[in-house]
Amino acid sequence: MRPINKSVFIKSLDCRRLAWHLYRNLVERDRLSGDDFLIYESKKIHSMAQELFAGGIQVKAATLQEALDKTKEFTSNPEIKAVFEPVFEYNGFTARADILSRHGDEWHITEVKAGNKGKRKYIIDMAYTALILSKNIKNISKSKLMLMSKDFRLGMPVERLFSETDFTTEVFTKMHEYDAICPDIKAMLENEIPPDMQLKMCCKNCPMFKQCTGKDIDFHIFDLPRLSHTSFDQLCSMNINTIKDVPDCVELTETQKNVKDCIINDKIFISPNLKTELEKINFPVYYLDFESVMTIYPLYQNICPHTQIVTQYSLHKASNLSDEPEHFEFIADHTKDDRLSLAENLIKDIGEEGSIITYSSFEHQILQHLAGLYPHLHEKISKISSRIVDLEAILKSNYYDKQFHGKTSIKKVLPIMIPEMNYNSLEIAEGGSALSAFAYMGVGLYNEEQIAETKKNLLEYCKQDTLALVKMHRFLAQAASIQF
Ligand code: SF4
Repeated sequence: MRPINKSVFIKSLDCRRLAWHLYRNLVERDRLSGDDFLIYESKKIHSMAQELFAGGIQVKAATLQEALDKTKEFTSNPEIKAVFEPVFEYNGFTARADILSRHGDEWHITEVKAGNKGKRKYIIDMAYTALILSKNIKNISKSKLMLMSKDFRLGMPVERLFSETDFTTEVFTKMHEYDAICPDIKAMLENEIPPDMQLKMCCKNCPMFKQCTGKDIDFHIFDLPRLSHTSFDQLCSMNINTIKDVPDCVELTETQKNVKDCIINDKIFISPNLKTELEKINFPVYYLDFESVMTIYPLYQNICPHTQIVTQYSLHKASNLSDEPEHFEFIADHTKDDRLSLAENLIKDIGEEGSIITYSSFEHQILQHLAGLYPHLHEKISKISSRIVDLEAILKSNYYDKQFHGKTSIKKVLPIMIPEMNYNSLEIAEGGSALSAFAYMGVGLYNEEQIAETKKNLLEYCKQDTLALVKMHRFLAQAASIQF
């Protein structure tokens, strides 16, 4: 049988059926363009961490057996002070550590992660690695975690890039728990029959949902917005997985009741409040969308890891609900932190009166941040913030089409409300791709031609978002019977 790796083992802790399919490479996952940039950054961070371990050597191998052999050779050589990415195997389970360093007769395992918070979530990962390593080498005395330091700024020496935490006690405790369940997990994975499916909260985001617990169910209970664990458990105990079967004795929120009503009575929910909410919008109306970049390793001077930097906006302006709107846009110079230019241009383009429609609270958060960053623009930016109307919040409380399936993201609801509008023909069609496209330019991986093409695609993508807002506003106004 094939080796059992860390990712399969960890998945088996949540769902054995999913782990069984992963083990056999039977789970399809959409590959996003942002994934490649994440891999690029992860490699960079790991190689910077390795710089801190003098006398270390990397295990480079084409096959598992070669990696195992090289690891054995390097760890047996007392001249080698650290081994990077060593691979170990025990009873069918394999693990690759990030850094294994020699300290006299003892070994320390160091895991390097690109995050900067939530340290405890890594203990599971570290415990599995420690378990497999401890079956191969003696005297592992420490298990440490290196995360990106929030205090690091571009330009500082690499020693300041990481913050280190010793998790030896927690890791060793969990490691013994895992040791006890490994035989059971191995037997389950090697069994030709997959474990039974069982509906649980984590099914909602499982890549196998549609072919497993969600198979052939039209309006799953997961379509109920903000379904609580208590309601979920109650429904599971009654063996109910579709909204159509939810009995009246199950307590639902007002929004959930509306969703259920739409499905049972095959209708669209339009709240009487929709008209009131939309009539509060003042003309001229601006439709605003920001895009941003966030890299692990900072792109610009004085920026810390994982900083979100706004890089572009699209702005449509309409004097009424029927005329062709005007369009404004801005994209940052990718070679520098260009947020001041962006803020100044936005102030110029967005005028001093009229509502500003956004979709979600993201634009408001970005504006608050810009106001804090540039005290001389604080008053002007705060006034812009105070004009914002969140169309998603209006939609959530006042309009529901059962085809939304409990979602309100623009990519989900737009094709249902405005079928002729979608992102299919765009080179950049989702936020993650936009973020990584800018990041590629920022780190200098694109030539002039690629930069020109990327900026054009980014502007088109952002423009599509605000045009979608214009159309959705008009659609809702029509649904609420507002005179055009
Ligand atoms: S849908 Fe649920 S039961 Fe099925 S594999 Fe995914 S998590 Fe497991």
